[in-house]
Amino acid sequence: MDNPLFFLSANAQDKDSYHYVWQHLSNTKAFKGEVFSTHKNGETIIQNLSVKSLKSSDLDSQYKVAIFTDITEKKRIEAQLLQQANFDELTNLPNRRLFKEYLALELNKNNRDKTSLVVLFLDLDHFKDVNDTRGHDIGDLLLAAIAKRIQHCVRNSDTVARIGGDEFAIILPNLVHKNKAEIIAENILLALNKPFILANNHASHQIVISMSIGIAIAPEDSNNLADLIKFADQAMYKAKNNGRNQFCYFTKSMQETALYKQALLKDLQHAIKHQEFELYYQPIINLKTKAVDHAEALIRWHHPTLGFITPDKFIPLAEESGLILAIGNWVFEQAATTAKYWTENFNDNFKISINKSPVQFHSKSQTTQWLDYLKQINLSGKQLIIELTEGILLENNNSNMNKLDKYRQCGIALSIDDFGTGYSSLSYLQKFHVDLLKIDKCFINSLYTKKSDLILSEAIIAMAHKLGIIVIAEGVETQKQYARLEQLNCDYVQGYFIAKPLKQKDFEQLFFK
Ligand code: C2E
Ligand code: CA
Ligand code: CA
Repeated sequence: MDNPLFFLSANAQDKDSYHYVWQHLSNTKAFKGEVFSTHKNGETIIQNLSVKSLKSSDLDSQYKVAIFTDITEKKRIEAQLLQQANFDELTNLPNRRLFKEYLALELNKNNRDKTSLVVLFLDLDHFKDVNDTRGHDIGDLLLAAIAKRIQHCVRNSDTVARIGGDEFAIILPNLVHKNKAEIIAENILLALNKPFILANNHASHQIVISMSIGIAIAPEDSNNLADLIKFADQAMYKAKNNGRNQFCYFTKSMQETALYKQALLKDLQHAIKHQEFELYYQPIINLKTKAVDHAEALIRWHHPTLGFITPDKFIPLAEESGLILAIGNWVFEQAATTAKYWTENFNDNFKISINKSPVQFHSKSQTTQWLDYLKQINLSGKQLIIELTEGILLENNNSNMNKLDKYRQCGIALSIDDFGTGYSSLSYLQKFHVDLLKIDKCFINSLYTKKSDLILSEAIIAMAHKLGIIVIAEGVETQKQYARLEQLNCDYVQGYFIAKPLKQKDFEQLFFK
């Protein structure tokens, strides 16, 4: 018998649906489900179909009642929500949620197949600079273009996901040869190193960018989803620390370092409250007058069980965790209190330099907090110098300029630390009214062994003087270096040759009595 439902169908596709429904009804007398059919306007729609069989006593034959509901729009919204919940809008790649789901599935399979599964974590190097200098629309175009290049470097069976702002992750399942992961990582790095040409309404931009990649392998490193992600992330940080634009494997020692950092971070949280920090002062000598009228404040941590921990070890950790703000406030208050005491008791011309890292500088409130504290203790800003690194000047934005202005208005001088190691832009020194610059110790170290460093130091001093900037040489360790800097007309010298950083009382005994 011909299918009585066929009168509802407009084409072969509809017939398939109704054929299925009719077959179902022959067994069960009722149907509930979704069918595709064709609308009068020719569009395919999805309908909810419910069919029931009725018995008519008069006619003793069966009638069927069918109720249709058009659910096309509902389905479209559902699909859209599913897409939004699982995929990144910008690149169309799976997002972090779906990445984790895929990884869980692949790990399960991998345990059965006994092959290797590799997780790659990819993080763009200095992506923020692109957003800051070229604008967010170009940043977005760049991310989409990068996603495409990454996808070209992997197999169809691999998963590429965007798991954060400038972070991507890749799952390479079923690897027979683990070194395939390395080849893919290399290819991605190479693919990214070719310039991107991107255009928005205003202009066309050529952008060069790189990324750092971390690699973790299952089952070697771990079979656990959370661990694999964590390990690939740690390996990526190692690649960043090694100089970026490279990949790095996860190793056990990396995990140990991470655990050590975690423990240290916990201790750091208690260090201020338990008064484990101490501020040391390193003298800076005026080469013209031979007077010590300036010192740099340098923080020291006396850890209750690990002993003395140098700032190189804990300042980066404090920056990552945001604790640097509280630590920085403590340093400022100590240094300002000492400056007040020294100027009132020993030398009213004395100045103390305080280090301020970029994380601190970018904090909204720290500048005002510091200036409020000066008012509170009634100390003139003339007694203080803030040491910043060159990067701050290169960011070249109004908010930075406003903060620098606030310091200047209070009489606080601005010094550029580690000069010569970054971009060393002399035009920025002038634009931001820099008062002092400190030639980095790596130049002073090789003042005698590397002709180019001597020439550079000489040029920095001469140019700084033309711009009215005072020059301090850092890391002076020998009489020979000291004498040469004197010859080069350098203004100030700081280093072990004069003295190591000292406790406040020792400093007073040596330089004020
Ligand atoms: P920096 O600002 O470049 O400080 C100079 C570093 O060189 C100090 O290391 C100092 O002890 C060391 N130094 C001084 N003279 C010589 C020398 O003749 N030879 C050699 N080899 N080294 C010399 P320190 O105290 O270990 O501090 C390391 C870094 O930690 C500092 O580098 C600074 O960036 C950071 N830091 C220290 N205290 C603070 C602080 O209170 N706040 C912030 N944000 N950073 C700080
Ligand atoms: Ca410094
Ligand atoms: Ca320095």
